[in-house]
Amino acid sequence: MNKVALITGATRGIGRQIALTLAQEGYDIAINYRTENDELEETKKIIEERNVKCLAVQGDVSNYDDCERFVKEVIDKFGTIDVLVNNAGITKDTLLMRMKKEDFEQVIDVNLVGTFNVTKNVVTYMMKARTGRIINISSVVGIAGNAGQANYSASKAGIIGFTKSLAKELASRNILVNAVAPGFIETSMTDVLKDEIKEEIAKSIPLKRMGTTEDVAKVVKFLASEDSSYITGQVIHVDGGMLM
Ligand code: NAD
Repeated sequence: MNKVALITGATRGIGRQIALTLAQEGYDIAINYRTENDELEETKKIIEERNVKCLAVQGDVSNYDDCERFVKEVIDKFGTIDVLVNNAGITKDTLLMRMKKEDFEQVIDVNLVGTFNVTKNVVTYMMKARTGRIINISSVVGIAGNAGQANYSASKAGIIGFTKSLAKELASRNILVNAVAPGFIETSMTDVLKDEIKEEIAKSIPLKRMGTTEDVAKVVKFLASEDSSYITGQVIHVDGGMLM
């Protein structure tokens, strides 16, 4: 039987690439999405082309009941979840002086509370199975901070604390919990920036380029694999040397 991976927010960007990379490795894939669109159909199609099963489960990660339901849908279909990747995330960037309470709360609700909501439901099954991998997508700004991203940085720093605490709680059950902290990756999240700004940032990165979704997915693949069986509670930077 194939191993099973659940990836949240997996219809585009980093989440989609993680789903494709794990499908390539022979995992059956459950992709969580919030709203139905062409990207979802396309993602499902390219996963199935890799000769593994793909289940798409609808749900807003910031809604606990949605998470409880869709995690159960995955268990009903596949019987297990071996790997959980908490990838769904949003930004609402602005300086603190202009940031509304809702801007702060929404980002925390999706990025941090969402990670809790999905993990809490999946861990119930992983504990019974006495095995599992949880990989949380944080960000370098969760470590270094960034002007205009107080909400986002707080959510991503929170994910790191959450990851380390769970790693300690769940180690005795053979559930390994790690975080990946991407730097500046080419996706629709960074597409909003002007080309000049992107070039400026790329120049400041030691490896002189933005990262690709593949750069992140390859590290997630490693953290899901047997090759990382002695690694837990760590934050792996995938940032071309941006933060050292
Ligand atoms: P993206 O906007 O392309 O993808 C985010 C995905 O999350 C989308 O599919 C979106 O529909 C989904 N999503 C958003 N809110 C959701 C919700 N409430 N419920 C379910 N799904 C939801 O962005 P991306 O760049 O691919 O980002 C993926 C992850 O990587 C995010 O957690 C992001 O914070 C993190 N990250 C990205 C970068 C970067 O430079 N792109 C850097 C560091 C960290």
